Amino acid sequence: MESEEERTEVLVELLREVLGNEKQHYDSKGQISFDCPVCASEKGVEGDGKGNLEINYFRGVYKCWACAETYGTQGVLGKLFDQFGTKKQKQIWDLLKPEEEGEKEKPKTYLRLPEGYTKFKDSNIRFIPHREAINYLYSRGITDEMIEKYDIGYTVSGDYAYRIIVPSYNEDGYLNYFVSRAWVPKKMKYKNPSVPKEEIIFNESRVDWTKDIYLCEGVFDAFFLPNPIPMLGKFLSTNLFQKLYDKAEGDIHICLDGDAWLDALKLYHNLNGGKLYNRIKIIKLPKDKDVCDLRGDISNYYFEIQ
Ligand SMILES: [Zn+2]
Repeated sequence: MESEEERTEVLVELLREVLGNEKQHYDSKGQISFDCPVCASEKGVEGDGKGNLEINYFRGVYKCWACAETYGTQGVLGKLFDQFGTKKQKQIWDLLKPEEEGEKEKPKTYLRLPEGYTKFKDSNIRFIPHREAINYLYSRGITDEMIEKYDIGYTVSGDYAYRIIVPSYNEDGYLNYFVSRAWVPKKMKYKNPSVPKEEIIFNESRVDWTKDIYLCEGVFDAFFLPNPIPMLGKFLSTNLFQKLYDKAEGDIHICLDGDAWLDALKLYHNLNGGKLYNRIKIIKLPKDKDVCDLRGDISNYYFEIQ
């Protein structure tokens, strides 16, 4: 593509082909709105003139302000083209879409593990903090195998003193994040590095995109699931959405905490479209339970969405 303007022109023309004429367009922000192909023609009228479907083509995302929650009309633009465009239009979009985060120039600051991080196997069981930390892990059902597999460690010094440390590695095996959990009562149970959560996929190095993927909230839930991605909260980042949409070959299981049923439903509708249609499974846990509480025994909690 020659220039940014040309790219925008081709893209807007492509969007018009799929969605009709735009309502608003702020090209400096990459923001453009159309009548929603899902809810605006519900009453049999072609378009309602409200322009509820908002697209940001710089970021490659869309959302209908009226029906996103009900019909999952939001996500990465690839999904929109899959649902409402032709194969040809989707191919053109794939050529036009903004490059992935990873392809951009990466800042040369590397995250490091917190001061004093020690693996349990390299430390002495007679050391009282070692014992306290490991007993805390055992009390939550975490086994020696999990500790070994996930490089779980702890530290007694620096900013993260008296916390269990769970490192995360990116696709290339570089540390991209870590989670720290206090095992003694502290104001903040969790304390994490200042890397924006949207930018990382926790332990992406371990994800097998050819198999079923289990989306959960926290790392302690992830320990108990076969091919997990902890979202570090209840919400899916655009980055992770894009990766799932492009790379996931199996089903996606949504395993949020019992108290997050509404968030889980939203996530279900958001993901269940385009290529991912019919490949989303969802569990509904008792209100006060999460995957870790159940030691990963979730098979009885699958919920059938009608
Ligand atoms: Zn809509």
